Amino acid sequence: MDIGICPSCGDDIKLRTPRVGLQLRCPYCDAWIEVIELDPIELDWVYDDDWDDEDWEEEDWEEEEEQDY
Ligand SMILES: [Zn+2]
Repeated sequence: MDIGICPSCGDDIKLRTPRVGLQLRCPYCDAWIEVIELDPIELDWVYDDDWDDEDWEEEDWEEEEEQDY
């Protein structure tokens, strides 16, 4: 078993089958991280633009609900 360091909280994360590009969630701080290097194991943040789009849709929806009142 290999162990990487979470870039967010610095805790050890166990990786059963590490490979470059593997994305996982830190069990300690819930941050999405990605394996970028295998020897040694190196982890980095996952930057996902799709999350911003979902936030926008939620805000629009809440505004519509307020107008109904
Ligand atoms: Zn973490």
